[in-house]
Amino acid sequence: MPGIIPHRHCVICGKAIEPDQVTCSEECQQTLEKEKRKQRNFTIFMMAGFLILILLLFLFSPKA
Ligand SMILES: [Zn+2]
Repeated sequence: MPGIIPHRHCVICGKAIEPDQVTCSEECQQTLEKEKRKQRNFTIFMMAGFLILILLLFLFSPKA
């Protein structure tokens, strides 16, 4: 199909980019890294909260 070049879109701003790239610029790359770090911190936070909840349930569960 003429006129259709395989390409992707920058995951941050949506600009058309090369198929082997994820972001269009250094700036968008940095934004992506920041988002990834935020996501990871959130996951760790949720896992820690879940573990504490399990621990509390275990500690305060009525003994049989
Ligand atoms: Zn971009």
